[in-house]
Amino acid sequence: MLLIKNAEVLTPTPGGRCDILIGGGQILRMEADIRIPRKYCEVIDARNLVVVPGFIDAHVHMMGGGGEGGFATRTPDLQLTDAIRGGITTVVGCLGTDGYTRSMPALLAKAKGLEEEGISTYLYSGSYGVPVRTLFSTIEEDLLFIDKVIGTGEVAISDHRSSQPTFEALAQLAGTARRGGMLSGKAGIVNLHLGDGIRGLEILRRILKETEIPASQFLPTHINRNPHLFEEGIAYAKSGGFVDFTTSTVQAYLDDGEVPCGVALRRMLEAGVDPGHITFTSDGQGSLPDFDDRGRLRGISVGRVTTLFAAVRDAVLQEKVPLETALRVITSNPAHILKLRSKGNLAVGLDADVVLLDPKNLEIHTVIAKGRTLMKARKPLAKGIFE
Ligand code: ZN
Repeated sequence: MLLIKNAEVLTPTPGGRCDILIGGGQILRMEADIRIPRKYCEVIDARNLVVVPGFIDAHVHMMGGGGEGGFATRTPDLQLTDAIRGGITTVVGCLGTDGYTRSMPALLAKAKGLEEEGISTYLYSGSYGVPVRTLFSTIEEDLLFIDKVIGTGEVAISDHRSSQPTFEALAQLAGTARRGGMLSGKAGIVNLHLGDGIRGLEILRRILKETEIPASQFLPTHINRNPHLFEEGIAYAKSGGFVDFTTSTVQAYLDDGEVPCGVALRRMLEAGVDPGHITFTSDGQGSLPDFDDRGRLRGISVGRVTTLFAAVRDAVLQEKVPLETALRVITSNPAHILKLRSKGNLAVGLDADVVLLDPKNLEIHTVIAKGRTLMKARKPLAKGIFE
């Protein structure tokens, strides 16, 4: 067992000071002054630290992605220590632009590998193009029969790399994801990649207007990638939709008007968006291709999962968003939207995914995933098999 003493807790709601007892991978007790003989448990003194839920990164190309500049530009896969250093205890994996040399079985194998190494993993079944890649022959079956599958994506729209899915094709896909989600008791969420195209969220607004599918079925991502899409995203979120911002970036994107995540969060809140409707994801291990205005590739680099909490830190330290509000975008919000019921909060009975932060500079001090300490006093204690 593991006992965290004297913890100032953000669940992420401010929870005051208490001790947290962990055993069997779960939070067993959260109360003042828990006393257990030392021989039965390891004790972490959290005095002067803030204790928060482990972070959820709900859009990671965990087995690599990319390839927009040819085979040599395929990006590498996620290493366990990248996640640990970023305080990430839950990762949702997806394919990317390339759903051909990358496959759903290989993605499932990578997710299972990371789970064996110590963190929790889930998957979007699908691909950039429609019809989407699946493990079984339909999204419904993937949701029903593969525990890790919680939705479909990332499906690209308003992008020169997309399959240019029609209204009917996308509405049908969302319908199958909704049906599969209901039958399996999962979210069945549709994770949409938004490109820089002028159509923006148009097809999504049309689906919400012309079909019975609710906005809660969709999590559109990269909403901060350009100023037009961001403004559209504010209106979309105010009308009840969820919006996801991407934390990995390159200078060329910022020069082109990308709204940094911290600024984007502050501006959405100022505009009156429900704080529960906003999430951050890293797009980790995805490619960050830089295209000129004719769609020609100028450069390419790779996304990092460590940008996830760094963006939350920027929101707090630079944009003055309260820590408990900023934390929600990588803890309770994704857990709620993706129906990950044992994740994203600190409460008795939930998975013991815990991060200890230094409140002064918001550095990650200790990381506990499924009850196991993976980083302590800023030093990773675990690493992947081949690291
Ligand atoms: Zn994308």
